[in-house]
Amino acid sequence: MHSSLKIGRIFGIDVGIHWSWAFIFLIVTWSFAEGVFARYYPQWTTGQLWIGGAFVALIFFVSILLHELSHAVVSNRSGLPVKEITLFVFGGVSNLTREPDSGGIEFKIAIVGPLTSLALAALFAAAWYAIRPVNAGIAGICANLALINAALAVFNMLPGFPLDGGRVFRSIVWSRNHDRLRATHAAARLGEWIAYGMVGLGVIETLLGGYVGGIWLVIIGFFLRGASASSYEQVLVESTLSRVTVSDIMRRDVDVVPPDLSVDQLVHDHILRTSARCFVVMAAGDLAGLVTLNDVRHIPRDQWPLTSAYRAMTPANKLHTVSPDESVTKVLQLMAMNDVNQLPVVRGRELLGMVTRADIMRFIRVRQDLGEEAAEATLPGHHDDARPRADQPPGVPLSR
Ligand SMILES: [Zn+2]
Repeated sequence: MHSSLKIGRIFGIDVGIHWSWAFIFLIVTWSFAEGVFARYYPQWTTGQLWIGGAFVALIFFVSILLHELSHAVVSNRSGLPVKEITLFVFGGVSNLTREPDSGGIEFKIAIVGPLTSLALAALFAAAWYAIRPVNAGIAGICANLALINAALAVFNMLPGFPLDGGRVFRSIVWSRNHDRLRATHAAARLGEWIAYGMVGLGVIETLLGGYVGGIWLVIIGFFLRGASASSYEQVLVESTLSRVTVSDIMRRDVDVVPPDLSVDQLVHDHILRTSARCFVVMAAGDLAGLVTLNDVRHIPRDQWPLTSAYRAMTPANKLHTVSPDESVTKVLQLMAMNDVNQLPVVRGRELLGMVTRADIMRFIRVRQDLGEEAAEATLPGHHDDARPRADQPPGVPLSR
């Protein structure tokens, strides 16, 4: 993740924080300064309130880190290496290198996080009990930290994917029906309903005057809704596209234009006459570059007859290219990272075709329309016959 800051390395796992943590740190500090300490310690100055709040936010942060580390350690021991953890909004994203192979392994990895939070809650509760006769202020902070960790355990055990409870739920459904995709679907749907419930409760609480708690619930609800939907989509796309390579999906009939073609001709003779939005500029049999509708848009209209396709194009040395053996999942990541909708497929200097985002999406849709069976056929562990064949018509010659 580019938007995260690496802060250290524990047990061989890189720990990073997402930028959203700056916001979370502030909101936790504010919640405790104004919502909790101001009520219980009216004699405190504003400075003391905010220092107290920041202190709680820091320990809250460490609590979440320990929760995430417990997932990572169990995952490492189960043979699913975790290289990095990114602390993100209300928890973390342990970057699993791949999804667990069975419901049993997923269950272990998921359940250990809430158990860790519960253990921390018990620890802070014991500290509260021990410190209470000595210092009421510190004991109060301990009590709050015990409550926070208990709340983290409870929140994470809600049975909505991708929360830990949702993963536990998915692992149970998965163990029963042996269908990871359908189990994920059920868990993600439950996650969305829980999210709507949280937003509703948050709105009601806010209307009743409980601003701090209400706003928290609404934010968490929206976060959970988005996470449920996108994590299901990710699993769906991954399982639909697993083992599908660029050569299975690329189009070989690329639209080639000569380098000396004017942009004016390009627009009138090519763009307006075909549905293509991206043209390959070939010079002396080599890929010179790509010219897209977007490139044309940047050229003033009166310059069109005077500008060559060669001048307008993005040159080959600035293009990202993919090999025909690259996995389509990787290609989607590459497109997202570079904000492009198509990539030339090359082997060495030879242009084999183009792979476009639209074609990948169409492939995913067709696969889904064909039903569960076709989608499952691409899951690892199925025999190779199920693999889609590259039965597109042979490509037309590159130079026309
Ligand atoms: Zn967790």
